Amino acid sequence: MRNFDLLSTDFDGTLVGHPSSGQCTNELKEYLKWFTDSGGHWVVNTGRSLEHMLEGLDLFDSPTPPHSLIVNERHLYQRGNDGVYYEVEEWNRPCDKTHEDLWKNTAPLLASLRRFAETHEDMEFVEKDGKPEGIISPSLGLMEEFLRILEEGRREFPDFSYQRNAVYLRFCHREYSKGSALAFLAGKLGISPASTLAAGDNHNDLSMLCPAVARFQVCPDNSVEEVKSRVAAAPRGFVSKLPNAQGTLEGLLNFSGLP
Ligand SMILES: [Mg+2]
Repeated sequence: MRNFDLLSTDFDGTLVGHPSSGQCTNELKEYLKWFTDSGGHWVVNTGRSLEHMLEGLDLFDSPTPPHSLIVNERHLYQRGNDGVYYEVEEWNRPCDKTHEDLWKNTAPLLASLRRFAETHEDMEFVEKDGKPEGIISPSLGLMEEFLRILEEGRREFPDFSYQRNAVYLRFCHREYSKGSALAFLAGKLGISPASTLAAGDNHNDLSMLCPAVARFQVCPDNSVEEVKSRVAAAPRGFVSKLPNAQGTLEGLLNFSGLP
């Protein structure tokens, strides 16, 4: 018996350690096989790009592939019968258009963030295809400093938001996140938040670690403090004392009704 039909797992730090071999435990793999065999829908919800995620899945060597992928913390893909992950256009196209507009409308803020990055050695302002992507900071301390500048600038541009994962930060529109993409997928599948479980370890997971998106919430011991306190405060939250895949599995079993 399952208490949830939709399982959203972050990848790095939640299914696999990082840095690591990219493999998770056999026990968690067995669980994922059981979950999908029994009709559950599994989505990996990550900040990785699609290409990087597919590489990760090759190494991960799952006995069963995820049904769906949410990559870049906002783009949704679903697996076809041929094993290929196809874009969910009805979500991704409006998402891309919203971001095109956002980059135009927030050009002064982006220019000031770029200046900050350029004046700090080893901080990288990342662009892809000429579009702003985010920041890679050489340290957590400098990231905190960058965040202060960003938060100040956002007051004038409230639609401008970000997803943070340790020293990585991705710019985004405030309506696009792991959480909103997961909510869209759940709606498409006809699964309610009451039947959804989310597992994650970092700041970019907070948007899906909320009862409006996922009633059941799990985080492993390596999670950042903000994630642990959020999950601990949730009525159906489970904070494990075990790291990575072991901690995630403990939480999944806790809510699964498995013997
Ligand atoms: Mg993570």
